[in-house]
Amino acid sequence: MSAGQLERLGEHLQRLRLFKCHERLEALLQEAVAAELSYADFLDTLLGEEVAAKTAKNVTMRTSLARFPFVKSLEAFDFDYQPSIDRKQLKGLGNCHFIEHGENLVILGPPGVGKTHLAVGLGLKAIEAGYRVLFTTAANMIATLTKAHQEGRLEDKLKFYTVPRLLIIDEIGYLPIDRHGANLFFQLISRRYEKGPMILTSNQSFGAWGEVFGDRIIATAILDRILHHAVTINIRGNSYRLKDKLKAGLVRAEEPATIT
Ligand code: ADP
Ligand code: MG
Repeated sequence: MSAGQLERLGEHLQRLRLFKCHERLEALLQEAVAAELSYADFLDTLLGEEVAAKTAKNVTMRTSLARFPFVKSLEAFDFDYQPSIDRKQLKGLGNCHFIEHGENLVILGPPGVGKTHLAVGLGLKAIEAGYRVLFTTAANMIATLTKAHQEGRLEDKLKFYTVPRLLIIDEIGYLPIDRHGANLFFQLISRRYEKGPMILTSNQSFGAWGEVFGDRIIATAILDRILHHAVTINIRGNSYRLKDKLKAGLVRAEEPATIT
């Protein structure tokens, strides 16, 4: 191949925005000649690298758009530490069928048991599967909706939380919600009902959601819609933070109840 031809090929690839192909063309051509690859094998390798690069870029972009508080995978979760979680069930959820079917997942448990980690891990699986994901806390979402309501932009903000295929609402129950906040939360849940799957986490059992939302009737209406098509995972165990404290010798293993 002449230098002129290589240059022209490079220009074509740039024009087609096949930047990985452009970057790898010369090296892969040399490899193909040395290994006497068929035309089809060469093309397969070259385009395979482009697809892999574009997919990785897309995942990175959608991960940053998801606004996770941290990025930790399901694979990084230590299921041995939390035996109350059915690891098969959790890994099955990683296949994203619940998203496809528009179902919700509710993760309940005390602080530190890995609710946020699991929600983020599943969110990352959803992104890898090609879905758009948005992470928020209940407090943050309600504050945003309240502000939008005051500024006459409620409709836009409701859309903002309705458009992503998967919405993760973390930390329901950490902060009390006033009646107006509960009403806005209800509106959002109604919008997504039976269309937009959600992952919700809470440190409070469903029975306590009446107090969380400051209104038993609204809490029932919210729960009714969330639980109509939902899987609930109840984590009963020690805070993972205790593990480090145990390791550091700050507490004795027989006193887990004193540290939560
Ligand atoms: P929660 O949301 O239930 O309060 P987090 O998910 O924030 O708990 O977990 C607290 C910290 O401990 C996070 O850094 C998380 O990654 C880690 N963690 C919790 N449980 C596990 C686990 N079983 N394996 C690995 N890391 C864990
Ligand atoms: Mg959390």
